[in-house]
Amino acid sequence: MKRLFLVLILSFFSTQGFTTSCPDGGEPTKSISADESHFVYNCGSSNSEQTSSSTANNSVKPITFSNIKSRVQDIPGVAWQNTQNLINSNNTVSGSLVQLEILKGPNTKLYFEGNEAAFTAGIKLWKNFKQPKKYLALFYSFEDKSWAISKYNKPRLIEAPCTPSECTGANSGIMDYSDQGVGVFGINSSDAWDNYRYGPIQIHEYTHAVQMSPWIGKDHPGNEQQKISPCWLIEGQAHFAGISASFSSFKEYKETRNQQIKSHRVEGFTTFSADKILGYYNNDIPIQCLKSPNYKLGYTLGFMTVEVLSAIGGIESSMKIYDLAGAGQSFDQAFNNVYGISWNDARPILAEVVALLHKNL
Ligand SMILES: [Zn+2]
Repeated sequence: MKRLFLVLILSFFSTQGFTTSCPDGGEPTKSISADESHFVYNCGSSNSEQTSSSTANNSVKPITFSNIKSRVQDIPGVAWQNTQNLINSNNTVSGSLVQLEILKGPNTKLYFEGNEAAFTAGIKLWKNFKQPKKYLALFYSFEDKSWAISKYNKPRLIEAPCTPSECTGANSGIMDYSDQGVGVFGINSSDAWDNYRYGPIQIHEYTHAVQMSPWIGKDHPGNEQQKISPCWLIEGQAHFAGISASFSSFKEYKETRNQQIKSHRVEGFTTFSADKILGYYNNDIPIQCLKSPNYKLGYTLGFMTVEVLSAIGGIESSMKIYDLAGAGQSFDQAFNNVYGISWNDARPILAEVVALLHKNL
């Protein structure tokens, strides 16, 4: 195999403190958007008689590129709720959309038993998009690497989640010359503390396979996707999908989100101003970005960028970019067609909003 799929590099910073959903410590309240297209999520007491009608009306208006700078506080809740609503409505799907095969090495001890449920949630999440015909997920510890090769004979892929002493990362995509997705997952007991491993990582990796699916039928679906895609979208979308789909409690979503955003640090990138974030977008060139030290910022700044886009257009909106690109559009054309604004005009707005979200962590 000429090329490895994207490796998810996980960093291990300590867990952050317990965060509450709203500034006052309460749970946000849910209401229906003005156009009834989605739920909106708001802090502030739902039974407060003092809430003026203008405030109430403003809080249920859809978030758009025009009003987003005044809606920064609402973004995580609206984006998370959209994913949850989509999963709930897609849950009515009967039968299997994708043939799923999950294998575990003979010496590998799983600390999480919900792999099948997690992949099934990922498959349902992306119900409205092209997906691989089959998805093979291999879970193995370091000592089971040769077992993994016996199950899927692509040694470089099997090595991808491993260091010289342990297997702890994950890697996934559509195989060359095929309509099959494969995910490899390194299992190491020292990762058992991390709730990112209990659903989010599985959906994250499965999402990479869906990102490449519009190019199934081409010789190298993964290359085709990477050729048009900035890295903030590759990792940001997978990460947002994994975390927003895995937690049906907003509080848990926020905890894992904040923990992830504070991790994956990049040396030399320490200030998160709008200017710096705009520079990150401008230098995030498809293919080149795969080898950049800033690649890891896809898990943080990319995550928040996709969260913002999901608050505006729902989680499916950013996947629609790949759908259109697979039909022959450039990234810029596809972005414009999905969001009604050019990427050129959108990125300074996104940079400013992401800087504010980062400040609010
Ligand atoms: Zn990834």
